[in-house]
Amino acid sequence: MDDSDSVYYSCEDFSDSETISSNDRRKRHYHYQNWRQIKIFNNNEELVEFIGKNWSKWRRNDNEKYLKQYYRCNKVKRKDKQCRARIFTSYDKFSKLIHLYKNNENHNCDKIISTNKRLAKELKNKIISLIEEKQKPKQIYEKLKKEGNVLKQTQVYSVIRRNKLKNIAKQK
Ligand SMILES: [Zn+2]
Repeated sequence: MDDSDSVYYSCEDFSDSETISSNDRRKRHYHYQNWRQIKIFNNNEELVEFIGKNWSKWRRNDNEKYLKQYYRCNKVKRKDKQCRARIFTSYDKFSKLIHLYKNNENHNCDKIISTNKRLAKELKNKIISLIEEKQKPKQIYEKLKKEGNVLKQTQVYSVIRRNKLKNIAKQK
């Protein structure tokens, strides 16, 4: 389907393909987004103004007719689970116009951020309880890592340091 012929069309969304098994047909369906054209920009300045600080560049698709640039909502970090809301721009190489498309999804970044915060807190509490069991920082790190937690050794040290300072403050 050609961009210029239709306002609505489906397009494969690549961004979730790393996390979703392609064997699961039900989940596979999730890859397909309904894109809707919402704006046309005359030049790059207009586009830049619209994008602001809310969207970060994601995948890109270039051919002789157009240049497509996908964006992700950057309220969540690149390595985290992504917000469902997506946009992409299609730069028409003939008309020099930039078409802006949005998918049919609302932002769910708020929920993702609060889940991440809660997980971070749980992990922090675990580290503190292991310190109280007199485990060494390296042991704590390796234990949590083995349990499948995503963390860096420096995070363990910083929790230990902050916890120590807290205890010193309590004793005063
Ligand atoms: Zn969002």
